[in-house]
Amino acid sequence: MTLKPIHIIGAGLAGSEAAWQIAQMGVPVVLHEMRPVRMTDAHKTQGCAELVCSNSFRSDDMHYNAVGLLHEEMRRCGSLILSEGDKAAVPAGGALAVDRDQFSAGVTEKLTSHPMITVRRDHVDVPPEDWDSVIIATGPLTSPELAHYIQSIGGEEQLAFFDAIAPIVYKESINFDIAWMQSRYDKAGPAGTGSDYINCPMNKDEYLTFITELLLSDKTGFKEWESNTPYFEGCMPVEVMAGRGVDTLRYGPMKPVGLDDPRTGKRPYAVVQLRQDNALGTLYNMVGFQTKMKYAEQSRVFRLIPGLENADFARLGGLHRNTFINSPKLLNETLRMKKMPRLRFAGQITGCEGYVESAAVGLMAGRFAALERLGGAISTPSPTTAMGAILSHITGGGNADTFQPMNVNFGLFPPIDDAVGARGKDKAREKKKLMALRALDAIADWQNKSRLEKAA
Ligand SMILES: Cc1cc2nc3c(=O)[nH]c(=O)nc-3n(C[C@H](O)[C@H](O)[C@H](O)COP(=O)(O)OP(=O)(O)OC[C@H]3O[C@@H](n4cnc5c(N)ncnc54)[C@H](O)[C@@H]3O)c2cc1C
Repeated sequence: MTLKPIHIIGAGLAGSEAAWQIAQMGVPVVLHEMRPVRMTDAHKTQGCAELVCSNSFRSDDMHYNAVGLLHEEMRRCGSLILSEGDKAAVPAGGALAVDRDQFSAGVTEKLTSHPMITVRRDHVDVPPEDWDSVIIATGPLTSPELAHYIQSIGGEEQLAFFDAIAPIVYKESINFDIAWMQSRYDKAGPAGTGSDYINCPMNKDEYLTFITELLLSDKTGFKEWESNTPYFEGCMPVEVMAGRGVDTLRYGPMKPVGLDDPRTGKRPYAVVQLRQDNALGTLYNMVGFQTKMKYAEQSRVFRLIPGLENADFARLGGLHRNTFINSPKLLNETLRMKKMPRLRFAGQITGCEGYVESAAVGLMAGRFAALERLGGAISTPSPTTAMGAILSHITGGGNADTFQPMNVNFGLFPPIDDAVGARGKDKAREKKKLMALRALDAIADWQNKSRLEKAA
């Protein structure tokens, strides 16, 4: 039986991995890549899976680090990105870092020599009607024509071009001897209880010190091609707001009105609010705290906030150009677009963040599309796995109203019972290991199911 090919747009981290998975399942693929016919502002070569910035896939520690766990899950699922990454590894301590040219050349060679894969160097502005199964994996620098097409289906406001991220904090690292839960004026709102925000209070001295440190902090510069992108008032970096006047933040995101500190019964001088960021309630984002401060500076300055002195950050803030869709609204659990099911999305355009996460979403999208083509039932990896945790976040767990790109982290996993016998810092560490072991069992399960479904 001749199978119709699946079309993938974009041969970056996600598209390359998706093509490999599909081809390995015996389904033909056409992989469309616009480079070198047309370049992006960040890519320099025509290689598949080019790493545009750092050469690191981050920690390779499968037991204590969520991205290390993701590496291991992907290896067990026959990932092309991980196998070529392992071959091109360079010394980098506990991280997996690669020789970028060797890595990209390895991926390109594997794809172009695979009998089920055709690589076409063409720009796709609109996927033709007769492509009945398409994976859009065009990344943070999706060409404007295709972005326009996606907007025309999904709705203008469901595609973002600018990524203004505020830091996200693990709830368990917040000091509730100082912070408290309360919504402004105790308003419950549609899904709330009246005590939905975490509030960190400041007195006048603490506020003035904080503003001074914000202004003195070391910032990241804009890239030349990003600098033309104006700030939207709604995503102005917190340090830029602070520079407009000493009280600007106190009348903006740090306003204390409608909030009473239960320790004093009074309104504080200023308040930093954190809003729930995932359905599990393990992660909270700092409201209005998008920033261009360097990462080390963010940790230092934000830990000056009372209640956050030991804050553990699941993600630090940033501001750069990034095209991504509102996946929790637009996609179903197998990454299909609800309004146009012949389209699937993969990679950073789905709102995951990072090389490895993008490749992981490519791996899942590829398998889902191939299983569908083969007529098998699709099963998704359990949310207790790193892959399943990302999938759940982007297709439902993330808050659609505040959806922002996210790296994999243990806060996205369903909690696990307390680690027996372990205490203090050890306890948090042991919990991670238990979560990792639980994930590796579940990924083996998913592998078996995918095989059974393929055979069926
Ligand atoms: C400036 C910059 C720096 C970054 N630094 C890092 C970093 O240090 N570490 C990290 O983990 N992540 C980083 N990222 C994020 C990184 O881009 C992603 O993690 C990863 O590359 C996303 O993979 P992807 O496959 O989704 O997209 P990409 O790898 O970007 O691949 C998308 C591909 O689609 C092609 N394409 C786009 N539009 C079309 C079209 N219409 N038709 C055909 N082809 C098309 C592009 O040419 C590209 O090859 C950075 C991003 C940017 C923009």
